[in-house]
Amino acid sequence: MDAIEARADTGTEQFPELPPPPAPAVHAMRVQPADAPSELKVLCVDDCEDDVALIIAALTAGGYVPEYRRVCRMPDIEAALAGQVWDLVISDYSMPQLNGLQVLDIVRQRSPELPFLLVSGAVGQDTAVAAMKSGAGDYIMKDDLARLVPAVRRELAEAGGRRARRLAESNLRASETLLNSIVNTAADGIIVIDESGMLEFVNAAVERMFGWRPLELIGRNFESLLMPRPQGGAGRLLTGLDRNSRSLSVGVGREVKAQRRDGGVFPIELTLGEMRIDGRIKYACIMRDVTERKCAEERIHQLAHYDKLTGLPNRALFSQLLEQALSEAKYSKKQVAVLFIDLDRFKLINDSLSHDSGDAVLKQVARRLTDAQFKRNTIARFGGDEFVVLMRDCQIPTDAAEAAQRMLTTIAQPLMLEGQEYHLTASIGISAYPSDGENAQTILKNADIAMYRAKEHGKNNYQFYSAQMNLHSFERLVLERFLRHALDQDEFRVYYQPKIDLVSGCVTGMEALLRWVHPAMGMISPVKFIPLAEETGLIVPIGAWVLKAACAQNKIWADQGLPPLRVAVNLSARQFAQDDLHSTILNVLEETGLAPELLELEITESVTMDNPEHAAALLRKLKALGIKLAIDDFGTGYSSLSYLKRFPIDNVKIDRSFIKDIPHDEDDVAITQAVIAMAHSLGLKVIAEGVESEEHVTFLREHGCEEAQGYLFGAPMSADDFTKLIVRTGRGVLPRAAPSAGA
Ligand code: C2E
Ligand code: MG
Ligand code: MG
Repeated sequence: MDAIEARADTGTEQFPELPPPPAPAVHAMRVQPADAPSELKVLCVDDCEDDVALIIAALTAGGYVPEYRRVCRMPDIEAALAGQVWDLVISDYSMPQLNGLQVLDIVRQRSPELPFLLVSGAVGQDTAVAAMKSGAGDYIMKDDLARLVPAVRRELAEAGGRRARRLAESNLRASETLLNSIVNTAADGIIVIDESGMLEFVNAAVERMFGWRPLELIGRNFESLLMPRPQGGAGRLLTGLDRNSRSLSVGVGREVKAQRRDGGVFPIELTLGEMRIDGRIKYACIMRDVTERKCAEERIHQLAHYDKLTGLPNRALFSQLLEQALSEAKYSKKQVAVLFIDLDRFKLINDSLSHDSGDAVLKQVARRLTDAQFKRNTIARFGGDEFVVLMRDCQIPTDAAEAAQRMLTTIAQPLMLEGQEYHLTASIGISAYPSDGENAQTILKNADIAMYRAKEHGKNNYQFYSAQMNLHSFERLVLERFLRHALDQDEFRVYYQPKIDLVSGCVTGMEALLRWVHPAMGMISPVKFIPLAEETGLIVPIGAWVLKAACAQNKIWADQGLPPLRVAVNLSARQFAQDDLHSTILNVLEETGLAPELLELEITESVTMDNPEHAAALLRKLKALGIKLAIDDFGTGYSSLSYLKRFPIDNVKIDRSFIKDIPHDEDDVAITQAVIAMAHSLGLKVIAEGVESEEHVTFLREHGCEEAQGYLFGAPMSADDFTKLIVRTGRGVLPRAAPSAGA
């Protein structure tokens, strides 16, 4: 805060300039300069015309230009005083109907300032004294008129002085009134304090602001109104006067907290000016209640630095806090960790729920994550389902790992929403200062990379950043470049895996599975490149290519005289979201000439959730063509058959992770049984994936599962190998089921 020069308040809170003083009250007299030969309006009260003539002559001789009227009866005197402005009254003492004192009396009543001289024959001393006491300017004997002109001059000069004084007084009163009304109608509080901080004056606004009446405040120390009480007293706080420079340490716009009578604390802005009254220094202080402005400032700060939904710090604030923590850590040689948390498959839940429920999930997660933190940690939301935790002064890896595990556990607690229970998981990436980066940007980026690695590790886990991960992301870049060329270079192949009818033991069809045969890297698993193709959008042309290749191959088989087999093609979410998917499929069927009944499309549940309306409409259109529809990998995602009721699905494929440990794992047995039963109740057929053993077959047959697919019958194979298989077995891959088995 800049100090301000003493005496002048240079702030914006100056009083407005005072208007010009009001016009003086009109008096029944005129003032002339004493020595100037000037007009003089004289009211002569005298019964003797000759005497008046002598008086006028004396005045004329004295340099005046008199203009006069002579009266000698009370009504005429009153009329003359009322009808005209006079400079002077000269009155005789003894007149037939009245005396000079009576005249003086009436003149003083009507015109208190009007100079009055008694000019008379001899009167007693007592009378002369009485006249002077009653306000006559002088008493002059008619035979001593030489005294008249000096007396007139003196009287006129005195009257002028009196008038000037009265004018000044009246001006003062006017400006006092004006100042009072300004001070008391001002919205700002105005106080005057002495050098010790003692309140000497408060205006009405101070009463409104503090709830104390003026009388309760006067004499109190200003410090008692501040919060917290300033060290060394308010006098010190307010004046902080540097005696040498005569400047105030508190000037315009210093903000402090004040306390109301009811205990409420509110922010005020103080502006201070020094003044000297009767040789003593006082301070006039203007106080502005800045509660509203502070609220607005806080709102803006809140909007700029905090996430609206969860109230957590946002990315901007987090970055600032991280920078701060890093510079502290550099100084104190401590470690800092950043944990990047991303919810797994949040989009699925979010899209399947109302907007409000999606928000409620995020709020709930924010609360759980906050509760799982130690106080000195900071948690922020970076938008979407990304949360970031800053751990100051922590041990790497122990503290960070422990915190990450705590957060995974708290997120995994079931969540009730719209009457249903949901299970969320998260993937967490951890990077630390100083091991993984020196600045905020690098540390955040590396935590993000580590988080992606956690996703690749099957989600619901945490990973520490390692330099290899950057290598890994480099690999991704290379892979992406190669993938872009794979289609043009004809590096893709479609493999086929048979599907078996568990009752007849015959091949009913096959799943088309993509293979990438890179000239240098060899066969690359779809598990590796499909997600990347999804991410980059390359899956759309690649998927269209698979569809066409699979349909064309199936048509070749049909034309070769093989029994009709249904080919299943996997559709990714990205493909499914394409507006032209329906026409793409129609074109492929037309171009290849494959009967729609011999094509099946496999989609995952998530595909239906991204946009349920779109999905339902599109699936109905595909279904109308005669194409079969299957839900792939059932049990790994949302796993709601009642949800799938809305879609025209034919088959459900139980994910191989549930089949793997059947019949030994009780949970898997229970789940598989339940899925089969539920699917049947909805009129859906069930296909088991990953069937590798006779045990699996026995169990699945017992529980009425219709079809199976797995290494037991054949791994995915080239088209040629598939032809050989069918020719060799005549479709009969599995012995027919015993008549007693099956549902
Ligand atoms: P998916 O659709 O669930 O395909 C079945 C996967 O299980 C195939 O893996 C297959 O080789 C494997 N599998 C088959 N039998 C067994 C078994 O007995 N035991 C075990 N452990 N695994 C078995 P693959 O070919 O590596 O494909 C993986 C995933 O890649 C597929 O899962 C599918 O989601 C995706 N994918 C493959 N081809 C395409 C495609 O053309 N388009 C799209 N969008 N996705 C594809
Ligand atoms: Mg599939
Ligand atoms: Mg599958």
